[in-house]
Amino acid sequence: MEMREAKRRIVLVPVPLQGHVTPMMQLGEALSLKGFSITVVQVQFNLVSSSQHFPGFQFVNLPNCELEGLGQIEFLLKLNKTSEASFKDCIGQLLLQHGNDIACIIHDEFNYFCGAVAKDLKLRNVIFSTQSATNHVSRCVFSKLESDKFLIDMKDQEMQDKMVENLYPLRYKDLLPSGFGPVEQAVKIRREVVNRRTASAVIFNTASCLESSSLSWLQKELEIRVYAIGPLHITASTPSILLEEDKGCIEWLNKQKPRSVMYISIGTLAQMEAEEVLEMAWGLCNSNQPFLWVIRPGSILGSEGIESLPNEVSRMVFEKGYIVKRAPQVEVLKHYAVGGFWSHCGWNSTLESIVEGVPMICRPFQGEQKVNAKYLEGVWKIGFQVEGEVERGKVEEAVKRLIVDEEGACMRERALVLKEKLKASVRNGGSSYNDLDDLVNYLKTK
Ligand code: UDP
Repeated sequence: MEMREAKRRIVLVPVPLQGHVTPMMQLGEALSLKGFSITVVQVQFNLVSSSQHFPGFQFVNLPNCELEGLGQIEFLLKLNKTSEASFKDCIGQLLLQHGNDIACIIHDEFNYFCGAVAKDLKLRNVIFSTQSATNHVSRCVFSKLESDKFLIDMKDQEMQDKMVENLYPLRYKDLLPSGFGPVEQAVKIRREVVNRRTASAVIFNTASCLESSSLSWLQKELEIRVYAIGPLHITASTPSILLEEDKGCIEWLNKQKPRSVMYISIGTLAQMEAEEVLEMAWGLCNSNQPFLWVIRPGSILGSEGIESLPNEVSRMVFEKGYIVKRAPQVEVLKHYAVGGFWSHCGWNSTLESIVEGVPMICRPFQGEQKVNAKYLEGVWKIGFQVEGEVERGKVEEAVKRLIVDEEGACMRERALVLKEKLKASVRNGGSSYNDLDDLVNYLKTK
């Protein structure tokens, strides 16, 4: 009788937010295809709804630690403060259940509570970053600065605009945490995240053709193996796992001209002022280009949604554009009618846009997104930033610049070149393909 080699189990610990859960589940899929068994340990918040999408995966829930209604930083601090003991119990039980067969705990970089548990239980742990490698570099550089002094120095404009040594195009002001409320708490989280503790490797959802210098920098700096195995979504089949998507917009896209539509989304967390939304609405309508606009419930501060715009504006928006609460984003970006993406530049959105060769208008809200926007504009040259106040004239001009003008066409050409490079990186023999193989071999070692 043929003896089956026992599968080795990987425990995945995602941060329960869409932009983190999706790539973690994609990593799970990739490892499962390589023969590992997968257990997903999740806190009771934004639970990945069922195992029906992930046959064979085991899901284990930690007790509720009441994260509802918290700001992003408080959310992460509380998650880390309250989860360690229950996570240790949970891993203890899993070890019993699976006869000690746990090859590794792979946890989101923001779940730093996992490091201590892995150490106590003498298990291997590997960090998974769902953000860009360059963002990690900027956090490392920032954490080495004396932050109190740095924050004071940053009041000086010259210092703000100074380039960080060897890290073109990052300026010192790009290292600042922003958009998270009190800066001290954001600094605290960054310190925790760059402290790799007992981790024996770090995985990034990126590819060397996008961030080779940042990856080399990190390889030297972190002194543990850095694996760049992305973009994971190219090979994954992971469906929408937390929220339902409005597929009706695809039928609407089918009726639009090729490369004519502006797609607008600010991700799953960012919020806009009602005044900015009104200016966006005017600018988009005045551009005379069709647009598909994601207006997430709760994404407009102090307002229920687009319906609260003045009647004439709301009528105009519904005439010229198509509004959804949630779009099937990857499908939208793949669609021939989409000519550009107005984005907050979250890392997943950035990767998804590049993989479809769609150039971007960058309107970042927070530190990480600002770093991505700098790269989109200054390194890959497939997008440009809209800075300062959102104002209808600027919005109209930006849309025309990207969709109609020659400049936009050049950005699209560069985006298409990058798209091919990214697709090649996950194919047999490509850099991400090889790094995934190396990671698998590492996880298989005793
Ligand atoms: N997303 C989506 N439909 C939407 C809005 C967002 O599918 O209408 C997905 C998007 O494809 C991406 C994720 O949500 O995978 C957002 O992650 P990102 O890192 O871009 O931003 P975050 O939401 O974390 O700020």
